[in-house]
Amino acid sequence: MCRGNEQTGAVVNRAEFSLIDWIRSRVVDRDPVKLGIGDDAAILRSTSDRDWLLATDMLMEGTDFTFPPATPRLAGRKALAVNLSDIAAMGGRATAAFVSVALPIDRGVEFAKELHAGLLDLADQYGVVLAGGDTNSWHGPLVINVAVVGEPASSQSVTRQGAKPGDWIFVTGALGGSIIGHHLTFEPRLREAAKLISCVDVHAMIDISDGLAADLHHLLDQSHVGATIDAASIPVSDAARAMTDGVSPLMHALSDGEDFELLFTVAAANGPRLLRDWQDATPIRCIGRVTVEKGCWLERDSDQRESLPPLGWSHSLKD
Ligand code: ADP
Ligand code: MG
Repeated sequence: MCRGNEQTGAVVNRAEFSLIDWIRSRVVDRDPVKLGIGDDAAILRSTSDRDWLLATDMLMEGTDFTFPPATPRLAGRKALAVNLSDIAAMGGRATAAFVSVALPIDRGVEFAKELHAGLLDLADQYGVVLAGGDTNSWHGPLVINVAVVGEPASSQSVTRQGAKPGDWIFVTGALGGSIIGHHLTFEPRLREAAKLISCVDVHAMIDISDGLAADLHHLLDQSHVGATIDAASIPVSDAARAMTDGVSPLMHALSDGEDFELLFTVAAANGPRLLRDWQDATPIRCIGRVTVEKGCWLERDSDQRESLPPLGWSHSLKD
């Protein structure tokens, strides 16, 4: 939801979030739903001792990709990848996927086959089985929805709710400028999530789809805590530096959508050990601390801090 990399928007669209809050207020989680609306994926109790994870995300031509630079293969790949990213954010392993498409009538069957070929290649890479879906055609643009089923990679899922005062805040990878191409080719961080939770007790986690600042606010709100972020520690991507729109690389890293990196917190006592032991092609970086006081602050140096609002990409649902 609420990404729109082909459109620009400086502040995340609150109307979409307040709509989700409204929907959420009308629903009470009950068996078999352990955790419903509000996280990266729902947690369902299974009859065995393992939970199920379920995530779904819809992409629309003109908003989430355009042809070109996207190809049908890349669009199909992205539709699955964004859902795998949500399963990763729960500390999960993906098992099966369902794909529903509204195909533009004038593009023909080859287009649809290419779309599915891109999706199936990624599914194979992560051991995900395509288990069903729905095929429709119409005179509109391509719309593709994927639902993914998974299970926790360890004994328990990681939610957005467990951040504690004093925790160190980490991100994987580098942030910003995804619109240049990363949003079509990114690798969902399933491997990194599984490695993380085997290394350390991850208190809370979310994937960065709306933008670092916006998704940090989601995690902090759900955990009822605040944070201080060190501007100099934010890993700014080469793509963010290459942007020529007059917006600073740091602002791109803070506010661009669709990085699909992991944002997570661990106890301060475990932070140094994680940094020392993490030997991986995907870097991790500590960017700040969780605070008891609500609110989110960006420190540019030790005596200068400013409020960090939930900057991010926006669709255009009206309030
Ligand atoms: P993400 O960016 O991680 O995909 P979203 O911002 O899209 O998460 O959604 C946040 C939460 O709201 C998720 O739990 C999602 O399942 C839920 N959600 C979004 N839209 C709806 C809807 N129309 N009805 C019920 N739940 C929804
Ligand atoms: Mg997510």
